[in-house]
Amino acid sequence: MHEFQYRQNELYCEDVPVKTIAKEVGTPFYLYSAKTLLNHYRAYDSAFASIPHIITFAMKANSNLAILRLFAREGGGADIVSAGELYRALQAGVDPQKINFAGVGKTAEEIRYALESNILMFNVESSQELRKIDEVAGRMKKKARVALRVNPNVDPKTHPYISTGLKKHKFGISIDKALEEYKLAASLKHIEVVGIHQHIGSQLTETAPYVDALRRLLGLVEELKKLGIDVQYVNIGGGLGITYDDETPPLPKELATAIGPLVKDLKCILIMEPGRALVGNAGILVTKVLYTKEGDAKKFVIVDAAMNDLIRPSFYGAFHLIQPVIRRERKPITADVVGPICESADFLAKDREMEECLPEEYLAVMSAGAYGFAMASNYNARPRVPEILVNGDRYFTVRDRETHADLIKGEHIPDFLK
Ligand SMILES: *Cc1c(COP(=O)(O)O)cnc(C)c1O
Repeated sequence: MHEFQYRQNELYCEDVPVKTIAKEVGTPFYLYSAKTLLNHYRAYDSAFASIPHIITFAMKANSNLAILRLFAREGGGADIVSAGELYRALQAGVDPQKINFAGVGKTAEEIRYALESNILMFNVESSQELRKIDEVAGRMKKKARVALRVNPNVDPKTHPYISTGLKKHKFGISIDKALEEYKLAASLKHIEVVGIHQHIGSQLTETAPYVDALRRLLGLVEELKKLGIDVQYVNIGGGLGITYDDETPPLPKELATAIGPLVKDLKCILIMEPGRALVGNAGILVTKVLYTKEGDAKKFVIVDAAMNDLIRPSFYGAFHLIQPVIRRERKPITADVVGPICESADFLAKDREMEECLPEEYLAVMSAGAYGFAMASNYNARPRVPEILVNGDRYFTVRDRETHADLIKGEHIPDFLK
């Protein structure tokens, strides 16, 4: 359940009318609900209350400092994929001992920064990376804690979903080779093997893939024990889906029910890395209708937000529900909702059955809290939009709208052109 609801035909975020914010900050903007973020975090946290666990928010989904702080205050950590994310997490006050570092391409510089910051562990994706971490840690006279990211190769035929855990993907170490890699890891002087990691995909709408993958992973944990390698952390990744349209993904509680029996006697700390499930439905993108246009074949609703603000529809063909901020009696239409960018791929909705809208009215693009602002760019020299956080009956600008000066920050015209 989220906190973007209508009261007498007017859309509210918690106790603040969306229209009030739109009038005051201008459009477009991202709008988040603190209460929804908290509810989502606590739903996860309490579902796993009986199992020792750490929730490391996959901050690539939304790395706003205020949101990171909100989860950190609840005891959450961060799953990072770059030095920049580490910097953000530390700035937000995330406990380094609750930070894990994922990704197939960590540079020596990033590894050094992470070791210096004393993060919880690296989730390692290849033997070359393992050796690199060993080398950097050696130079620093440190020991690096690592988990290996294992690719459980869960059969997508039984579970059709967006997947990262298959042999053909660039991620992780194949489960057949994992034992060898663990032996290598255990032999390296500046590596301490502490965990095992998997992340099988995103927007999962069933628990079965988690159960399948975890079974495979735990089989490996048993074999590792026989080799004298005792993992203390079992990381099941993120990927729990949310409702964009009519999906019915499992709740964290259902996930806990499904995997609880597998992990309850493990004596390990469970790590989870939800991204989308925490923030997706805690945010919307508010935009204004500029024009409507009747093409030869189609109707268009032209709005002031574009693919640079929210790229998911053009990038993944993703569906986002679009609702009017003020509801009234309207004629149904089928239209493309498009932005001002000079690309045919610049749309927020295609052939959408919606209600007729008029210039100047506000629309809410729902479920935009994950991979929304985080993937925004300055394409077409469009300043990135502000991010607003509502808490009860008040709202706070947690990121300013960029200015034209921001757009050219760091650029130089060389002398020979002066
Ligand atoms: C992207 C990612 C996540 C989060 O995925 P969601 O689908 O947003 O929950 C977690 N772990 C890793 C390693 C990832 O790459």
